[in-house]
Amino acid sequence: MIGLGWAGPQEISLSVTQQQVLDRLAQVMSPRGVALTKSDVLSEIAVNNGKVYFSINVDAAEARAWESVRAAAETAVRGIPSVTGAIIALTAERRPGAAAAPQPHRHDHGVAPASAHKPSAGPGPSSPMSKQAEIPGVAAIIAVASGKGGVGKSTTALNLALGLRDLGLRVGLLDADIYGPSVPRLTGIHEKPQLDDSRKMIPIQRFGLSIMSIGFLVEEETAMIWRGPMVMSAITQMLRDVAWGTLDVLVVDMPPGTGDAQLTLAQNVPLKGAVIVSTPQDLALIDARRGLAMFNKVNVPVLGIVENMSYFQCPECGTRSDIFGHGGARHEAERLGVPFLGEIPLHMSIRATSDAGTPVVASEPDGPHAAIYRDIAAKVRDQLTITAAV
Ligand code: ADP
Repeated sequence: MIGLGWAGPQEISLSVTQQQVLDRLAQVMSPRGVALTKSDVLSEIAVNNGKVYFSINVDAAEARAWESVRAAAETAVRGIPSVTGAIIALTAERRPGAAAAPQPHRHDHGVAPASAHKPSAGPGPSSPMSKQAEIPGVAAIIAVASGKGGVGKSTTALNLALGLRDLGLRVGLLDADIYGPSVPRLTGIHEKPQLDDSRKMIPIQRFGLSIMSIGFLVEEETAMIWRGPMVMSAITQMLRDVAWGTLDVLVVDMPPGTGDAQLTLAQNVPLKGAVIVSTPQDLALIDARRGLAMFNKVNVPVLGIVENMSYFQCPECGTRSDIFGHGGARHEAERLGVPFLGEIPLHMSIRATSDAGTPVVASEPDGPHAAIYRDIAAKVRDQLTITAAV
């Protein structure tokens, strides 16, 4: 099994050096019969405020043999008195040129052509990273994705989760935007998750949602250094080593973009559907089309497109101005035969509530913006019902 080890905090505050970590790792033997430090599998070791992060990168075929090494490395690093936490990811990559195995059977959407099963990136099912198994207790996992950053994907994901909550659903939110986890800021959550008896992380409860973010564990700057395979490994663990409990919907805030990391994620997380967030500008729409193509490729139904920052609404007088040539996403959705889920205005109160950690659906539930998000949530729920997920 691949593993992301989270060693809980201890009350010590000396500084840790990379050399101290390497000294400890030199005492851990690898399956190759040499010390871990001599096995040529270690990523750069990042040390930040007493927390240690690195990955062990091995070939997918060997991954099982390495899980105990990952665990031993974690214990060794945790043994350094000044270490307050450690995230050690075991990442498994298929060797270039290794045969791509057929894709595992996905959910019965009946929407994608057989060619959509063709894997084009990421590990095949022989890899321990290819875990299509459902998450026990979680009825439906949906992704919120965007072709590029800064379009309001995270704001939409959180308010959509709250809209689904308002429909009476039990909802979780997983911030998988490992390159820039913003859910801690958007929710005002600064505490770290506790571990339960089976060493699963307990999601933080806020606004009636079960929330987990890589940002609860690592600093924003640290998250930036994570490479593609580490992203998948960390996200898999966030999905499976978290005590989600019983959820009707788990909303996953995806990393922005349509690169290999996103494709691998879409391929490996058992998604029931995806919501694509776009701004009206043409460029963003081109990016949104790439997002659509990515989900089609891995046979995940696109539940619809949301146009964010669709029009400018004056906070003083409420007047609407279509400063971005609004409506592009609706037309694009119609053209592509994908449901159009709604338009969210560019409005000060959405930005202000987002950035204050008090999302608009929770803080202004009777306002017009909450109503828009609830309307989008209802459409998402309806789309999920069509695909028989909820
Ligand atoms: P992404 O996840 O796509 O990078 P964020 O959700 O973090 O984007 O949003 C980027 C910025 O835009 C944040 O400051 C957020 O408050 C703001 N924002 C998002 N949607 C809106 C909106 N509809 N109106 C005003 N500000 C918005």
